[in-house]
Amino acid sequence: MTDLERIRHSCAHVLATAILKIWPEAQFAAGPPVENGFYYDVELPHRITPEDFARIEEEMKREVKANHIFERVEVSRDEAVALAERGELAALGPRGEASKFKLDIVTNIPDGEVITLYRNGEFTDLCAGPHVMRTGNIGAFKLTHVASAYYKGDENNPQLQRIYGTAFKNKTEMQAYFDMLEEAKKRDHRKLGRELELFCFDDDVGPGLPLWLPRGTVLIEELEKLAKETEFAAGYVRVRTPHLARENLYLTSGHLPYYAESMFPPMELKPEGEGLSCDRYYLKAMNCPHHHKLFGAVQRSYRDLPLRLAEYGTCYRYEQSGELFGLMRVRSMQMNDAHIYCTEEQFEEEFRAVNEMYLKYFAIFGIDRYQMRFSTHDPAKLGQKFVDQSELWLKTEDMVRGVLQRSGINFVEVPNEAAFYGPKIDVQVWSAIGREFTIATNQVDFAVPKKFGLVYKDRDNTEKTPLCIHRAPLGTHERFIGFLIEHYAGNFPLWLAPDQVRVITIGEDQALVDYAKEIHRELRHHEVRAELDLSNDPVKAKIADAEKMKVHTMLVIGNRDLEAGAVSLRVHGKGNLGSKPKAEAVAEIFAAISERRP
Ligand SMILES: [Zn+2]
Ligand SMILES: [Zn+2]
Repeated sequence: MTDLERIRHSCAHVLATAILKIWPEAQFAAGPPVENGFYYDVELPHRITPEDFARIEEEMKREVKANHIFERVEVSRDEAVALAERGELAALGPRGEASKFKLDIVTNIPDGEVITLYRNGEFTDLCAGPHVMRTGNIGAFKLTHVASAYYKGDENNPQLQRIYGTAFKNKTEMQAYFDMLEEAKKRDHRKLGRELELFCFDDDVGPGLPLWLPRGTVLIEELEKLAKETEFAAGYVRVRTPHLARENLYLTSGHLPYYAESMFPPMELKPEGEGLSCDRYYLKAMNCPHHHKLFGAVQRSYRDLPLRLAEYGTCYRYEQSGELFGLMRVRSMQMNDAHIYCTEEQFEEEFRAVNEMYLKYFAIFGIDRYQMRFSTHDPAKLGQKFVDQSELWLKTEDMVRGVLQRSGINFVEVPNEAAFYGPKIDVQVWSAIGREFTIATNQVDFAVPKKFGLVYKDRDNTEKTPLCIHRAPLGTHERFIGFLIEHYAGNFPLWLAPDQVRVITIGEDQALVDYAKEIHRELRHHEVRAELDLSNDPVKAKIADAEKMKVHTMLVIGNRDLEAGAVSLRVHGKGNLGSKPKAEAVAEIFAAISERRP
């Protein structure tokens, strides 16, 4: 847990304390930190609404002010069960009714795991921690909204009220957060996506399946061009794979049955012969299994490694309809994917190069605030939550940590949150207005290549299994473009702008029109996305029209410009930049695009 998550999770305990002071019968389930805050699930006959927030916050303030210690107590399973039965967990003291959800949670804690309680003031909760030292360490907090949720996410279980809030180190940081949310509303990618004609959704196509209009497609293709150039320079090779595969592939990879809920249901093909079983195909939820097959398709020797297979692969995931959100949560996504197959000796250098690629992209997009969240394993859970290869865990984690430290990358280490088959890094970035986005994940994988039987012939002629690094610095087009729309507020830099240049005439003289056409032709000849506005609308209206669609650069041409061989330059958001010789203005445009100036 990060410091902020600790504050937020601790605040969930304070929330529960306050609710119990008002409604002693409340039954609590889970209360974790989440993106931008925390929640606590509660069962309560009274329906909590935002009108109740002030009253609950009043009680919470008292708890924070009292500055109670978060006291950790280890208990045996029997003690924990007894406390739950007496209603003393997530409670202020014994109650007439058992703490039923906590009782269920206790009985599901695996054998051998340490069971801990945390106390703040009168309140005791079953919790693994960690927390802040004292309630007074919660600098500022606010309840934000209520939703409903089934216990353990299962609709056969009771429906609970999910109370959301957020907390910060201090009031200034909290205020900055709420100011940022206000600004973010204006930059909402769904709103700008509609206004700028970038993408849309259609009921007949299906929820969560974005359709890209021509302007949005420009963004996609510019990003792909950037990724292809960058990956080519870094020694990647490109592959292409189909969007679906037979069931067997996912049984090998382990996606089935464990990941089945996140996949679209299978397509069943009736067999052509008698007595044959049905052939099932699934839309791919990840590109890895296909890439592993490509690694295995050719005899590999140590000379082939590192092998870096890249693809902007389209994946399909069955997100619950309640989880869908604009471009941020979708059911079809195009991923900036690649898998690097390497030896243990090559791992460190490969990992370093991946990080370098991130930093390069951050510079291009003017992302100056980011954090890498490095999730490691817990030695106590080898063989259960984490693949049982102690030595490889320690070795790769050391290497990852070393690379992160030496390259001066901003990172936090989070124990016990690695993927099953290796350490992972989630990359969080902050937009220009300070909103946080998780855009990408890198994973080290030392289990799956073995499952696929991937080998290379080493120098000594023995067969060895390669390590695999999964990486996707630009995440998915959907999420990354959603981020960029907000980051730039739709005012994309020239190289990325769907409408780069519009040539606008003042007047209708033939010579003037010919001059404008000549400039337009020259720009188009160099693949600049230039449009020509020769209409006889007043120039003010023509400019307003271009500004509305956030056309990056306007070349406004009147008779005086024609005589001087010049153009009047206008940049969206910056206004009139005065007259410039035509050749100079055009050369500037070419340079800004080819250098991808911010
Ligand atoms: Zn806790
Ligand atoms: Zn992968």
